[in-house]
Amino acid sequence: MSKIYIDGSIVDEAEAKISVFDHGLLYGDGIFEGIRFYAGRVFKLKEHIDRLFDSARAIHLTLTWTRAEVTEALLETIRANELKDGYIRLVVTRGVGSLGLSPYLCEKPSLIIIASKISLYSEEKYRDGLCLITCGTRRPGPAALSPSVKSLNYLNNILAKIEALQAGCEEGVILNEQGFVAECTGDNIFIVKNGEVFTPPVTAGSLDGITRLAVMEIVRELGYSLSEPMMTRYDIYTADECFLTGTAAEVIPAVRYDQRPIGDGKPGPVTLRCTESFHKLTQSSGTPIYN
Ligand code: PMP
Repeated sequence: MSKIYIDGSIVDEAEAKISVFDHGLLYGDGIFEGIRFYAGRVFKLKEHIDRLFDSARAIHLTLTWTRAEVTEALLETIRANELKDGYIRLVVTRGVGSLGLSPYLCEKPSLIIIASKISLYSEEKYRDGLCLITCGTRRPGPAALSPSVKSLNYLNNILAKIEALQAGCEEGVILNEQGFVAECTGDNIFIVKNGEVFTPPVTAGSLDGITRLAVMEIVRELGYSLSEPMMTRYDIYTADECFLTGTAAEVIPAVRYDQRPIGDGKPGPVTLRCTESFHKLTQSSGTPIYN
């Protein structure tokens, strides 16, 4: 049974409970992070903590802990579970309030940290690649909730994911209101064409993915040209390679899109090189958990 951090205590999973009046539950009013740790080190911890604090500021949620306190709570939770490799779900809810929207009536935010394992796709998918479709569910425009906020409102993504799964695909490509490619339901997207690498800009409507940024650095280090143009479905239809990035998914090839093979329908050489470098980076960097 796993040990869960909840508001200053580490308790058994069965004891980790929140109120039914928590606005995180009633309204999806809260934020979260998904973080991986490898070989006893937390990958890109500072980046995740920074994004959490930015998400909080963006939704006017005053965190009652410092960055150092959140970091220590996170490390403590992993230690309590005696894990070296795994996945952390860190959730901040607005806290207990009344049956009305106002966040100002909520007493204090709650911090929940789960240290566990995650495996989104089978080994074959990492070897052979995913199937993608275009989702009808669009990414709302920039005047709505910003996709940069990693909020507890994932229904837009979940509806898109349902479409992909019902079509027999593992992931779906989400377009923005103008029809440009934003990202996938839980991952950022990259394509390769004639040896050059492309990923949509965050302003097209994606989360500012931490894996995306790490992979962009890897792409440059490997000597490929990299740019962030607005992309349409045509760019994916005519790409040589495609891959997705995310903390949970890591780097995974995509080989079919809207019933068409991408390139020759097999994971390509640039994807494989980026995947290999990414794995090396995860094994050789990060914040130590056990000193
Ligand atoms: N886009 C969405 C919608 C996500 O939820 C995630 C995280 N699962 C990503 C992209 C990838 O972001 P990161 O690399 O920071 O995990």
